[in-house]
Amino acid sequence: MSIRSFFTLTTWFVVASVVPVFGQSTAPVAEKPPNTSNRESSELVHEVVFVRNGSRRKVAGRLLLESRDQLVLQTDDGAIYAIDQGEIQNHLQTDQIFRPATPEEIAERLLAEMPSGFRIHTTSHYVVCYGTSRTYAQWTSSLLERLHRAFTRYWSRRGFQLHEPEFPLVALVFPDQKSYLRSAQEQGAQISSAVVGFYSLQSNRVNMYDLTGVEAVRSPGNRRGSLKEISQMLSVPAAVPLVSTIVHEATHQIAFNCGLQTRLSDIPLWLCEGMAIVFEAPDLSSTKGWRGIGKVNHPRLKIFRKNQKSWRTARLKSMLASDRPFRDSRTAANAYADAWALNYYLIKYHPKEYTAYLKMLAQKPRLGKDGPERRLEEFHDSFGDVRKLERDFLKQMAKIKS
Ligand SMILES: [Zn+2]
Repeated sequence: MSIRSFFTLTTWFVVASVVPVFGQSTAPVAEKPPNTSNRESSELVHEVVFVRNGSRRKVAGRLLLESRDQLVLQTDDGAIYAIDQGEIQNHLQTDQIFRPATPEEIAERLLAEMPSGFRIHTTSHYVVCYGTSRTYAQWTSSLLERLHRAFTRYWSRRGFQLHEPEFPLVALVFPDQKSYLRSAQEQGAQISSAVVGFYSLQSNRVNMYDLTGVEAVRSPGNRRGSLKEISQMLSVPAAVPLVSTIVHEATHQIAFNCGLQTRLSDIPLWLCEGMAIVFEAPDLSSTKGWRGIGKVNHPRLKIFRKNQKSWRTARLKSMLASDRPFRDSRTAANAYADAWALNYYLIKYHPKEYTAYLKMLAQKPRLGKDGPERRLEEFHDSFGDVRKLERDFLKQMAKIKS
């Protein structure tokens, strides 16, 4: 469970496939005259035709960046495409102004893309495309909206004003694990069957399935028809880690869409993952607020305590400097627990510095790459001496009652 986001936050966007052109034509693309308006190139729609794995594809969107090796384009649904310069056949800047798609446009496209039987439920920030009951889609969107509200309020109270998402946030809710895993595979996300939800940096969508169908949360004869019945089923202890995963993945989506983090920028995984775990605690009992944020996460604390017993003084430093432990399935569970502990500690004991550090990270450029020295330097600039902080961190964490 702890490596669930590994696939979504590594280089997955790079290997993700690009949507094929419908009604693909082999006719040459005509060059339009160069842009003579006063518009910045980044505000205009670019059309890129390229060849990957033998097939010719076309995407249209705004240009996020262009380097000697790569070009990054964002389509009007918020998806991001990284295309190698060597793959490009034609790149045309149109005089059309880029604008995000509306929820209605996204809904129409999702219905055409997903298998028959899927429907749409739209709320103020989300377009939920579901193959479940309508009630389950309502339960999901209510969870997501409450999380969104709690997340933005939480950071605004801490001096970080987030903005509204530029694109409608898409959640795909599959009827069962089988169809969900099949879709994950088609999307290029190699997730194990234990992973009940994931966020794709490439498509900007959260994927999940109907958790009331999971064996562990079902008891013989129970009904899952009404909102109340769904809430009851998903409040049992066996369901908590499952719902937590959904909340965790949705937290990534909000963070990347509301200005807290920038997709494709080099944000340390200890921060990105540890913070998502801080928000993990689902608060199903409350229909309005969200009281779980920042509570002690006991399953993570248990793992962290074990790690603490064999803690070496350089451990914090190596955690700050490298993402590797998060990407290796042998060390990921420990890395996630340590990351939760560090974020929990920093938010509790160094809240102002933590917010300032987040603001600094939010300015990081896309596709930039910081070395370990730079990461350590920035951490030091924000929180002071690492060794000293490490001692206090271990001391304070040891005081928490398990
Ligand atoms: Zn994650």
